[in-house]
Amino acid sequence: MSAVNGDSEAPSYYLASANRYVEHPVLRGEVRTDVCVVGAGFTGLSAALELAERGYRVVVVEAETVGWGASGRNGGQICTGFSSGMEPIEAQLGPDDARKCFEIAEEGKAIIAERIARHAIACDLKWGYLHVAAKPGAMADLSGMQASLQRYGCETELLDRESLRERLGTDRYHGALHEAGAGHFHPLNYCLGMADAAIAAGVEIYEHSRATRIESGPDPVVHTGEGLVRARFVVVAGNAYLGRTVKPLHTRIMPVGSFLVATEPLGEERARTLIRDDEAVADTNYVLDYFRLSGDRRMIFGGGCTYSGVIPDDIAARMGRRMTRIFPGLADARIDYAWGGFIGITVNRIPDLGTVGGTVFYAQGFSGQGVTLGNICGRLMAEAVAGQAERFDLMARFRHQPFPGGPVRTPLLVLAMAWYRLRDMLG
Ligand SMILES: Cc1cc2nc3c(=O)[nH]c(=O)nc-3n(C[C@H](O)[C@H](O)[C@H](O)COP(=O)(O)OP(=O)(O)OC[C@H]3O[C@@H](n4cnc5c(N)ncnc54)[C@H](O)[C@@H]3O)c2cc1C
Repeated sequence: MSAVNGDSEAPSYYLASANRYVEHPVLRGEVRTDVCVVGAGFTGLSAALELAERGYRVVVVEAETVGWGASGRNGGQICTGFSSGMEPIEAQLGPDDARKCFEIAEEGKAIIAERIARHAIACDLKWGYLHVAAKPGAMADLSGMQASLQRYGCETELLDRESLRERLGTDRYHGALHEAGAGHFHPLNYCLGMADAAIAAGVEIYEHSRATRIESGPDPVVHTGEGLVRARFVVVAGNAYLGRTVKPLHTRIMPVGSFLVATEPLGEERARTLIRDDEAVADTNYVLDYFRLSGDRRMIFGGGCTYSGVIPDDIAARMGRRMTRIFPGLADARIDYAWGGFIGITVNRIPDLGTVGGTVFYAQGFSGQGVTLGNICGRLMAEAVAGQAERFDLMARFRHQPFPGGPVRTPLLVLAMAWYRLRDMLG
């Protein structure tokens, strides 16, 4: 088993198929800069790149290596909107500001497409998404989702069971909602491409340089094991892997484990019998299955959920079982890679943005939709540093409940999880 901040797992498919891996030095001694970014995932690198493009000197300190956290391990699904859906956001902020938030989330997708094109990042970007109904009753939920997305101008199509059966090689699902404007990609290659772009724009990246302490206030200082960074501003983007580095942030999110497997390459023809039009797919369960084909035609199948803070050793067997329940024909497909990672979730599944001491900005808790939200929240923090905080302030208005702290934290969540699992099973 490996714990949240451990590094003993087998390499993921993404690591094994990374375009190239540039090593960055360890931070030793003292450096001065305009902005110190903590964490080199989508959020931190997005902020760093945007800030450097605006003329700021930027230093990134990463505890492990670029993309080591959730950004280099995830399902690669480029989702629309927020994990919570729009209703709780409308209830908190009212319809006009909720619409602004939705447009901000949509910009997250546009950033990805723009950066891939501008920096020629080879990361197998594909558009098309299927939300599939895991239970007959879920078709009503998908109709509700369609109505909500339509209000926000998104193109969708409801598919009945027969039409879905023509597109997906399984009869497990009861229908689907197809979205043209969501998609999937190789997340680590995108992350590494962003790091290259950031370096080209003048950003300094230090790896194996965990921030151990952050002094906020007028002259913030970020301490690492062997060095320190004096900056005018700090951007904290450690998300589910931050631990207790910034105390007030710890109870605002919970790291939830999720797991993936990648099969051997299946060949174009067999792959197309599984997902005909190469969409990303996710089901409607609370503990959901999500899957897609990789660029080299492997099935990448994810799901599961753990609140215990450890990644189990038997991911291949567990996820293999889940995968063959959906695609029995894959029983003979070899599983080449199995890995896991931690998603930062908030109680209400709405992202958590804010400031500490006026000069430290943070964004975390994208609750399973950080591919787009991490990218855009990086930009919002860059805007806030540059004194254009209107959009950051809007998202920082989301109200959050902390998770329980202390010894009841994990048992309570395990109980909650058991309840949701039961609900998924009962239909
Ligand atoms: C298995 C899995 C599947 C997922 N699937 C999807 C999906 O399909 N679609 C989707 O939208 N989202 C998905 N997510 C969520 C998504 O990956 C995350 O929301 C997103 O990557 C968060 O990016 P981030 O940059 O905020 O955090 P991370 O990518 O986790 O980066 C944080 C970085 O900060 C570093 N760090 C932490 N503490 C410190 C410190 N003290 N000092 C220095 N560095 C530090 C970490 O080492 C890490 O590299 C998934 C997540 C997981 C784990």
